[in-house]
Amino acid sequence: MTAGGGQRAEREPVAVVTGGASGIGRAVVADLAAHGYRVAVLDRDVPGHGDGDREDAGRVRWVAGDVRDPDAHDRVVDIALSLFGGLDLFVGNAGVHDGGIGVRDLAGAELAEVARHVLDVDVVGYLLGARAAAGALADSRGSMVFTLSDASYLVRGNGAGIAYAAAKHAALGVVRHLAADLAPSVRVNAVAPGGVVTGLRTVDGHRVFAGAEEVTATVRGFNPLGVVLQAEQVAPLYRFLASSLAEGMTGEVLRPDGGLAVR
Ligand code: NAD
Repeated sequence: MTAGGGQRAEREPVAVVTGGASGIGRAVVADLAAHGYRVAVLDRDVPGHGDGDREDAGRVRWVAGDVRDPDAHDRVVDIALSLFGGLDLFVGNAGVHDGGIGVRDLAGAELAEVARHVLDVDVVGYLLGARAAAGALADSRGSMVFTLSDASYLVRGNGAGIAYAAAKHAALGVVRHLAADLAPSVRVNAVAPGGVVTGLRTVDGHRVFAGAEEVTATVRGFNPLGVVLQAEQVAPLYRFLASSLAEGMTGEVLRPDGGLAVR
């Protein structure tokens, strides 16, 4: 699988990944770095270094920041360009969950707070990243890949509440709109996993997949293939979508979710 893009024969491919410090994003960073990419990661929790930036063996640069902050996106893109010499792939992935809330579960003010937080991170965070990366990606004929979810399609039974379902449905709209907007210079695609046991948290910091055994049994029982996927199985799909093999794909979503589309 070769990296796609047009004008970077003399340098290694470069990616920016948001939410790359844990779970699916962390697996994507490892997969890209193992396949020749240099990666700048934007995450609010940079591993092992408090809130400072750091670098691993010259290949991964960790940048501490919040995806709700437009300046954080500009900063990580600037770092990719100045440190690694260009940008070929933007992965929008940082996300938070709503803990499965229904519309009548919270008082109005609390519902507004949770919904705004989820939409800010899971939707506005994607828009801000796309905005910051679009110019450099147009220069390299690069691509964007976003993490959607089974909650971009399903509204019941998958643990998603009303705010998370709204956010992930909206993020599908973001992907489709960007794909139309940025063609032909930048391709925009997505991966929509279902039930990957990660460190995913609610806005108040609770782990969605706490109680691993019970959770894996639930995930397995919910999808037609009876599988629980690991983040490492999902990660290569991002690299595939960024590669020349996917040269003809934009506005598409790959769905590693155990077959929920036929449930
Ligand atoms: P995770 O919590 O392991 O990883 C999410 C990362 O995003 C963390 O490193 C976290 O620090 C970061 N993050 C959260 N809010 C941030 C903010 N405001 N600014 C900067 N960084 C922030 O969870 P994950 O499951 O790997 O989630 C990654 C993406 O996958 C999310 O968009 C999630 O909605 C999506 N997703 C997950 C599953 C699943 O089953 N785990 C399924 C479908 C979609």
